[in-house]
Amino acid sequence: MSSTTPSAANLLELLAAQARSFVDGARSSRSPPLELRAKLVELQRELQPMLERVPKDDVLLELLERRVLTFVDAEVRAYLAWQKPSLRIFQNALRSTAKHAQTKVGISTVRCTACGAARENEAVHRCQYCGTPLLGATT
Ligand SMILES: [Zn+2]
Repeated sequence: MSSTTPSAANLLELLAAQARSFVDGARSSRSPPLELRAKLVELQRELQPMLERVPKDDVLLELLERRVLTFVDAEVRAYLAWQKPSLRIFQNALRSTAKHAQTKVGISTVRCTACGAARENEAVHRCQYCGTPLLGATT
């Protein structure tokens, strides 16, 4: 079993290559951010058990662990930034509907820190547009 001990450098490379291919795929087919996020989360899930098998004295292990924890949000944010022009249109549409709701009930609107979309109601803990956990989210 120990013949397949991965190094942190190898896994970092694998992560970068896989993430890039998902992002490139998403860009060329203009996928919704949620779809890209789902693929990245799946990759994250596959990488997690591999982290355990990296030798503890690997100098890049800490960097790898941090990367595995953060790359999903980082890639989705980068994708949102790339998408920006169409995103603005979406946000503006959402903003006007949110305003309607707000004037009626008088509650404050929680916005997604990644794309700026408003939370539709209290029960929603993830941005419905890009999947980023929203303020006060428990999941
Ligand atoms: Zn969002």
